[in-house]
Amino acid sequence: MEPRDLSAHVAYSAGRGIEEVARDLGMEPEDLVKLSSNENPFGPSPAAVEAVREAAPDLHVYPKAVHTDLTDALAEEFDLGPAQVWLSPGADGALDLLARAFIDPGDRVLVPEPGFAYYPMSARYTHAEVDSYELSKADDFAQSPDSILEAYDGHRVVYLTTPHNPTGSEVSLPDVEAVADRTDEETLVVVDEAYGEFSEAPSARRLLEDREDVAVLRTFSKAYGLAGLRVGYALVPEEWADAYELVNTPFAVNSVACRAGLAALEDDDHVERTVETTRWAREYMHEHLDAHTWESGGNFVLVEVGDAAAVAEASQRQGVIIRDCTSFGLPDCVRVSCGTREETREAVAVLNDVLAEVLAG
Ligand SMILES: *Cc1c(COP(=O)(O)O)cnc(C)c1O
Repeated sequence: MEPRDLSAHVAYSAGRGIEEVARDLGMEPEDLVKLSSNENPFGPSPAAVEAVREAAPDLHVYPKAVHTDLTDALAEEFDLGPAQVWLSPGADGALDLLARAFIDPGDRVLVPEPGFAYYPMSARYTHAEVDSYELSKADDFAQSPDSILEAYDGHRVVYLTTPHNPTGSEVSLPDVEAVADRTDEETLVVVDEAYGEFSEAPSARRLLEDREDVAVLRTFSKAYGLAGLRVGYALVPEEWADAYELVNTPFAVNSVACRAGLAALEDDDHVERTVETTRWAREYMHEHLDAHTWESGGNFVLVEVGDAAAVAEASQRQGVIIRDCTSFGLPDCVRVSCGTREETREAVAVLNDVLAEVLAG
Protein backbone atom coordinates (compact mmCIF):
# COMPACT_ATOMS: atom_id res chain seq x y z
CA MET A 1 0.00 0.00 0.00
CA GLU A 2 1.01 3.64 -0.30
CA PRO A 3 0.31 6.97 1.41
CA ARG A 4 -2.21 9.29 -0.26
CA ASP A 5 -0.96 11.43 -3.13
CA LEU A 6 1.73 13.59 -1.51
CA SER A 7 3.27 14.83 -4.74
CA ALA A 8 2.35 18.47 -3.96
CA HIS A 9 4.11 18.22 -0.57
CA VAL A 10 7.69 19.34 0.03
CA ALA A 11 9.81 18.12 2.94
CA TYR A 12 11.12 20.71 5.42
CA SER A 13 14.81 21.36 4.99
CA ALA A 14 16.35 22.36 8.32
CA GLY A 15 19.77 23.87 8.91
CA ARG A 16 22.20 21.02 9.60
CA GLY A 17 23.00 20.00 13.17
CA ILE A 18 26.34 20.84 14.71
CA GLU A 19 27.25 17.17 15.40
CA GLU A 20 26.49 16.25 11.80
CA VAL A 21 28.71 19.00 10.42
CA ALA A 22 31.50 18.30 12.92
CA ARG A 23 31.55 14.63 11.93
CA ASP A 24 31.76 15.54 8.22
CA LEU A 25 34.63 17.95 8.80
CA GLY A 26 36.48 15.73 11.27
CA MET A 27 36.19 18.50 13.88
CA GLU A 28 34.80 18.64 17.43
CA PRO A 29 31.42 20.32 17.88
CA GLU A 30 33.07 22.75 20.37
CA ASP A 31 35.30 24.05 17.58
CA LEU A 32 32.33 25.08 15.50
CA VAL A 33 30.16 28.19 15.72
CA LYS A 34 26.63 27.35 14.66
CA LEU A 35 24.76 30.36 13.34
CA SER A 36 22.45 28.61 10.91
CA SER A 37 19.22 27.99 12.81
CA ASN A 38 18.46 31.22 14.71
CA GLU A 39 18.96 29.46 18.03
CA ASN A 40 19.75 31.22 21.29
CA PRO A 41 23.56 31.51 21.59
CA PHE A 42 23.32 31.60 25.39
CA GLY A 43 21.42 28.33 25.50
CA PRO A 44 18.28 27.93 27.59
CA SER A 45 17.57 29.90 30.74
CA PRO A 46 19.34 28.23 33.70
CA ALA A 47 16.00 28.31 35.49
CA ALA A 48 14.48 26.26 32.66
CA VAL A 49 17.32 23.73 32.88
CA GLU A 50 16.66 23.35 36.59
CA ALA A 51 12.92 22.95 35.93
CA VAL A 52 13.64 20.19 33.43
CA ARG A 53 15.73 18.32 36.01
CA GLU A 54 13.00 18.69 38.59
CA ALA A 55 10.37 17.47 36.14
CA ALA A 56 12.00 14.06 35.68
CA PRO A 57 10.40 12.17 38.60
CA ASP A 58 6.89 13.09 37.38
CA LEU A 59 7.17 11.85 33.82
CA HIS A 60 4.52 9.18 34.37
CA VAL A 61 1.81 11.84 34.82
CA TYR A 62 -0.15 13.30 31.88
CA PRO A 63 0.60 17.02 31.54
CA LYS A 64 -2.75 18.47 32.54
CA ALA A 65 -2.01 20.75 35.50
CA VAL A 66 1.28 22.10 34.12
CA HIS A 67 -0.41 22.83 30.81
CA THR A 68 -2.98 24.93 32.66
CA ASP A 69 -0.24 26.68 34.64
CA LEU A 70 1.69 27.72 31.54
CA THR A 71 -1.47 28.79 29.74
CA ASP A 72 -2.47 30.93 32.72
CA ALA A 73 0.98 32.49 32.96
CA LEU A 74 0.95 33.42 29.27
CA ALA A 75 -2.62 34.74 29.53
CA GLU A 76 -1.45 37.01 32.32
CA GLU A 77 1.64 38.07 30.41
CA PHE A 78 -0.45 39.13 27.40
CA ASP A 79 -3.50 40.24 29.37
CA LEU A 80 -5.85 37.80 27.65
CA GLY A 81 -8.26 35.12 28.81
CA PRO A 82 -6.68 31.65 29.24
CA ALA A 83 -8.83 30.24 26.40
CA GLN A 84 -7.15 32.76 24.08
CA VAL A 85 -3.75 31.09 24.53
CA TRP A 86 -3.42 27.98 22.38
CA LEU A 87 -0.35 26.10 23.60
CA SER A 88 1.25 23.95 20.93
CA PRO A 89 4.37 21.93 20.13
CA GLY A 90 6.34 24.88 18.81
CA ALA A 91 4.76 27.70 16.84
CA ASP A 92 4.76 25.11 14.05
CA GLY A 93 2.18 23.21 16.05
CA ALA A 94 0.08 26.38 16.34
CA LEU A 95 0.11 26.66 12.54
CA ASP A 96 -1.36 23.15 12.42
CA LEU A 97 -4.03 24.02 14.96
CA LEU A 98 -5.10 27.10 13.00
CA ALA A 99 -5.14 25.11 9.76
CA ARG A 100 -7.29 22.43 11.37
CA ALA A 101 -9.67 25.02 12.77
CA PHE A 102 -10.04 27.13 9.62
CA ILE A 103 -9.24 25.26 6.43
CA ASP A 104 -11.79 23.20 4.54
CA PRO A 105 -10.50 20.97 1.73
CA GLY A 106 -9.91 23.05 -1.38
CA ASP A 107 -9.63 26.38 0.48
CA ARG A 108 -6.79 28.61 -0.70
CA VAL A 109 -4.12 30.16 1.48
CA LEU A 110 -1.59 32.90 0.75
CA VAL A 111 2.02 32.59 1.92
CA PRO A 112 5.08 34.83 1.58
CA GLU A 113 7.74 33.97 -1.00
CA PRO A 114 10.52 33.77 0.10
CA GLY A 115 9.15 32.58 3.39
CA PHE A 116 8.87 30.06 6.15
CA ALA A 117 8.47 26.61 4.60
CA TYR A 118 6.07 25.27 7.18
CA TYR A 119 3.12 27.55 6.21
CA PRO A 120 2.43 25.74 2.92
CA MET A 121 3.27 22.35 4.40
CA SER A 122 0.82 22.74 7.24
CA ALA A 123 -1.92 24.12 4.97
CA ARG A 124 -1.50 21.24 2.52
CA TYR A 125 -2.00 18.65 5.26
CA THR A 126 -5.51 20.03 5.58
CA HIS A 127 -5.97 19.88 1.79
CA ALA A 128 -5.57 23.58 1.08
CA GLU A 129 -4.25 25.01 -2.18
CA VAL A 130 -1.30 27.34 -1.75
CA ASP A 131 -0.62 30.65 -3.51
CA SER A 132 2.13 33.11 -2.68
CA TYR A 133 2.83 36.82 -2.55
CA GLU A 134 6.28 38.08 -3.36
CA LEU A 135 8.73 39.92 -1.14
CA SER A 136 10.98 41.40 -3.75
CA LYS A 137 14.67 41.90 -3.33
CA ALA A 138 14.50 45.00 -5.54
CA ASP A 139 12.16 46.45 -2.92
CA ASP A 140 14.33 45.31 0.03
CA PHE A 141 11.77 42.63 0.84
CA ALA A 142 9.30 45.27 1.98
CA GLN A 143 5.93 43.93 3.10
CA SER A 144 3.45 46.68 2.27
CA PRO A 145 -0.30 45.95 2.30
CA ASP A 146 -0.37 46.71 -1.44
CA SER A 147 2.36 44.21 -2.23
CA ILE A 148 0.68 41.54 -0.12
CA LEU A 149 -2.85 42.20 -1.37
CA GLU A 150 -1.86 42.27 -5.01
CA ALA A 151 -1.86 38.46 -4.82
CA TYR A 152 -4.98 38.22 -2.64
CA ASP A 153 -8.10 36.67 -4.08
CA GLY A 154 -10.44 35.72 -1.25
CA HIS A 155 -7.92 33.39 0.42
CA ARG A 156 -9.02 31.71 3.63
CA VAL A 157 -5.74 32.37 5.41
CA VAL A 158 -3.04 34.99 4.79
CA TYR A 159 0.27 34.38 6.55
CA LEU A 160 2.42 37.37 7.58
CA THR A 161 5.82 37.01 9.23
CA THR A 162 7.15 39.88 11.27
CA PRO A 163 10.09 40.02 11.68
CA HIS A 164 10.30 37.98 8.49
CA ASN A 165 12.49 34.90 8.17
CA PRO A 166 14.91 34.93 6.34
CA THR A 167 14.96 38.60 5.29
CA GLY A 168 14.40 40.38 8.63
CA SER A 169 11.85 42.83 7.22
CA GLU A 170 8.87 43.84 9.34
CA VAL A 171 5.21 44.68 8.94
CA SER A 172 4.03 47.66 11.00
CA LEU A 173 0.93 47.30 13.13
CA PRO A 174 -1.10 49.71 10.97
CA ASP A 175 -0.07 47.65 7.93
CA VAL A 176 -1.17 44.37 9.55
CA GLU A 177 -4.45 46.09 10.33
CA ALA A 178 -4.74 47.34 6.75
CA VAL A 179 -4.28 43.78 5.44
CA ALA A 180 -6.95 42.50 7.83
CA ASP A 181 -9.28 45.39 6.87
CA ARG A 182 -8.86 44.93 3.16
CA THR A 183 -9.37 41.15 3.13
CA ASP A 184 -12.75 39.42 3.45
CA GLU A 185 -14.45 38.94 6.77
CA GLU A 186 -13.84 35.20 6.42
CA THR A 187 -10.09 35.58 5.86
CA LEU A 188 -7.84 34.85 8.83
CA VAL A 189 -4.62 36.85 9.03
CA VAL A 190 -1.95 34.86 10.87
CA VAL A 191 0.78 37.13 12.22
CA ASP A 192 3.85 35.02 12.93
CA GLU A 193 5.91 36.74 15.61
CA ALA A 194 8.37 33.90 16.22
CA TYR A 195 11.03 36.64 16.43
CA GLY A 196 8.80 39.22 18.10
CA GLU A 197 10.96 39.60 21.21
CA PHE A 198 13.87 40.90 19.11
CA SER A 199 11.83 43.59 17.40
CA GLU A 200 11.24 47.13 18.61
CA ALA A 201 7.77 47.10 17.06
CA PRO A 202 4.62 46.46 19.12
CA SER A 203 3.00 43.02 18.95
CA ALA A 204 -0.13 42.41 16.89
CA ARG A 205 -1.59 41.15 20.18
CA ARG A 206 -3.19 44.62 20.39
CA LEU A 207 -5.41 43.85 17.41
CA LEU A 208 -7.09 41.03 19.32
CA GLU A 209 -8.97 43.66 21.34
CA ASP A 210 -11.37 44.46 18.57
CA ARG A 211 -10.82 42.03 15.71
CA GLU A 212 -11.92 38.44 15.11
CA ASP A 213 -9.77 37.84 12.05
CA VAL A 214 -6.23 37.93 13.41
CA ALA A 215 -4.16 35.32 15.27
CA VAL A 216 -0.65 35.90 16.60
CA LEU A 217 2.04 33.21 16.84
CA ARG A 218 4.82 33.17 19.41
CA THR A 219 7.39 30.59 20.48
CA PHE A 220 9.83 29.63 23.21
CA SER A 221 12.26 28.38 20.54
CA LYS A 222 14.08 31.61 19.75
CA ALA A 223 14.46 34.29 22.46
CA TYR A 224 13.79 31.78 25.25
CA GLY A 225 16.24 29.20 23.93
CA LEU A 226 13.95 26.16 24.20
CA ALA A 227 13.89 25.03 20.56
CA GLY A 228 14.65 21.44 21.55
CA LEU A 229 11.56 21.19 23.75
CA ARG A 230 9.03 22.27 21.10
CA VAL A 231 6.78 24.75 22.83
CA GLY A 232 4.96 27.69 21.29
CA TYR A 233 1.48 29.17 21.17
CA ALA A 234 -1.09 31.15 19.27
CA LEU A 235 -2.89 34.15 20.76
CA VAL A 236 -6.40 34.25 19.34
CA PRO A 237 -9.57 36.37 19.56
CA GLU A 238 -12.06 35.56 22.27
CA GLU A 239 -14.84 34.86 19.74
CA TRP A 240 -13.50 31.54 18.49
CA ALA A 241 -10.98 30.68 21.20
CA ASP A 242 -12.99 27.62 22.30
CA ALA A 243 -12.18 25.85 19.00
CA TYR A 244 -8.87 24.86 20.61
CA GLU A 245 -10.49 21.99 22.48
CA LEU A 246 -11.89 20.67 19.20
CA VAL A 247 -8.67 20.65 17.18
CA ASN A 248 -5.90 20.12 19.70
CA THR A 249 -4.06 16.82 19.90
CA PRO A 250 -4.50 15.65 23.50
CA PHE A 251 -1.49 16.54 25.66
CA ALA A 252 0.38 17.89 22.64
CA VAL A 253 2.78 19.93 24.77
CA ASN A 254 4.69 17.69 27.13
CA SER A 255 5.10 18.29 30.85
CA VAL A 256 8.85 18.97 30.67
CA ALA A 257 8.28 21.64 28.03
CA CYS A 258 5.49 23.24 30.06
CA ARG A 259 7.61 23.43 33.20
CA ALA A 260 10.61 24.77 31.32
CA GLY A 261 8.41 27.34 29.58
CA LEU A 262 7.06 28.53 32.93
CA ALA A 263 10.56 28.91 34.34
CA ALA A 264 11.86 30.63 31.21
CA LEU A 265 8.96 33.07 31.21
CA GLU A 266 9.98 34.27 34.66
CA ASP A 267 13.67 34.58 33.82
CA ASP A 268 13.68 38.17 32.59
CA ASP A 269 17.47 38.43 32.85
CA HIS A 270 18.01 35.65 30.33
CA VAL A 271 15.65 37.14 27.75
CA GLU A 272 16.97 40.67 28.27
CA ARG A 273 20.56 39.54 27.85
CA THR A 274 19.60 37.58 24.73
CA VAL A 275 17.73 40.48 23.15
CA GLU A 276 20.43 43.02 24.00
CA THR A 277 23.19 40.87 22.54
CA THR A 278 21.11 40.14 19.46
CA ARG A 279 20.60 43.83 18.77
CA TRP A 280 24.31 44.44 19.23
CA ALA A 281 25.14 41.54 16.86
CA ARG A 282 22.78 42.81 14.15
CA GLU A 283 24.46 46.20 14.23
CA TYR A 284 27.91 44.67 14.30
CA MET A 285 27.14 42.62 11.20
CA HIS A 286 25.64 45.62 9.37
CA GLU A 287 28.74 47.66 10.12
CA HIS A 288 31.50 45.14 9.65
CA LEU A 289 30.47 42.66 6.97
CA ASP A 290 32.03 43.42 3.58
CA ALA A 291 28.78 42.66 1.81
CA HIS A 292 25.30 44.05 1.46
CA THR A 293 23.07 43.31 4.47
CA TRP A 294 19.41 44.10 5.08
CA GLU A 295 17.92 45.74 8.17
CA SER A 296 16.61 42.99 10.41
CA GLY A 297 14.14 42.90 13.26
CA GLY A 298 15.05 39.28 14.08
CA ASN A 299 18.03 37.43 15.58
CA PHE A 300 19.67 37.00 12.18
CA VAL A 301 20.88 39.05 9.24
CA LEU A 302 20.48 38.32 5.55
CA VAL A 303 23.70 38.88 3.61
CA GLU A 304 24.17 39.12 -0.14
CA VAL A 305 27.22 37.04 -1.04
CA GLY A 306 26.92 36.00 -4.67
CA ASP A 307 27.21 32.21 -4.62
CA ALA A 308 25.55 31.32 -1.32
CA ALA A 309 26.24 27.58 -1.53
CA ALA A 310 29.97 28.13 -2.10
CA VAL A 311 30.24 30.79 0.60
CA ALA A 312 28.32 28.73 3.18
CA GLU A 313 30.51 25.74 2.46
CA ALA A 314 33.78 27.67 2.64
CA SER A 315 32.73 29.34 5.85
CA GLN A 316 31.77 25.97 7.32
CA ARG A 317 35.23 24.63 6.52
CA GLN A 318 36.54 27.50 8.65
CA GLY A 319 34.28 26.49 11.51
CA VAL A 320 31.32 28.85 11.08
CA ILE A 321 28.03 27.28 10.04
CA ILE A 322 25.63 29.68 8.34
CA ARG A 323 22.44 29.16 6.34
CA ASP A 324 22.59 29.01 2.57
CA CYS A 325 19.28 30.60 1.49
CA THR A 326 18.99 28.71 -1.79
CA SER A 327 16.11 26.64 -0.36
CA PHE A 328 14.33 29.95 0.32
CA GLY A 329 14.73 30.88 -3.35
CA LEU A 330 17.62 33.26 -2.60
CA PRO A 331 20.67 31.48 -4.06
CA ASP A 332 22.83 34.61 -3.67
CA CYS A 333 22.15 35.14 0.03
CA VAL A 334 23.13 33.59 3.32
CA ARG A 335 21.43 34.09 6.65
CA VAL A 336 23.67 34.53 9.68
CA SER A 337 22.14 34.12 13.12
CA CYS A 338 23.21 36.49 15.87
CA GLY A 339 25.72 34.78 18.17
CA THR A 340 27.36 35.91 21.37
CA ARG A 341 29.68 38.88 20.88
CA GLU A 342 32.64 36.55 20.49
CA GLU A 343 30.87 34.24 18.04
CA THR A 344 29.55 37.13 16.00
CA ARG A 345 33.01 38.71 15.69
CA GLU A 346 34.42 35.37 14.60
CA ALA A 347 31.65 34.81 12.08
CA VAL A 348 32.17 38.25 10.55
CA ALA A 349 35.94 37.72 10.31
CA VAL A 350 35.51 34.31 8.66
CA LEU A 351 32.82 35.49 6.30
CA ASN A 352 34.86 38.52 5.23
CA ASP A 353 37.80 36.20 4.64
CA VAL A 354 35.70 33.86 2.54
CA LEU A 355 34.21 36.75 0.57
CA ALA A 356 37.67 38.11 -0.19
CA GLU A 357 38.77 34.65 -1.38
CA VAL A 358 35.71 34.27 -3.57
CA LEU A 359 36.33 37.68 -5.09
CA ALA A 360 39.99 36.85 -5.66
CA GLY A 361 38.65 33.90 -7.63
C1 LIG B 1 11.44 29.34 14.03
C2 LIG B 1 10.19 29.80 13.37
C3 LIG B 1 8.91 29.40 13.78
C4 LIG B 1 8.56 28.41 14.82
O1 LIG B 1 9.43 27.62 15.36
P1 LIG B 1 9.00 26.59 16.47
O2 LIG B 1 10.29 26.05 16.90
O3 LIG B 1 8.07 25.60 15.86
O4 LIG B 1 8.31 27.38 17.54
C5 LIG B 1 7.81 29.94 13.17
N1 LIG B 1 7.93 30.83 12.19
C6 LIG B 1 9.12 31.24 11.77
C7 LIG B 1 9.17 32.25 10.70
C8 LIG B 1 10.29 30.73 12.32
O5 LIG B 1 11.47 31.13 11.84
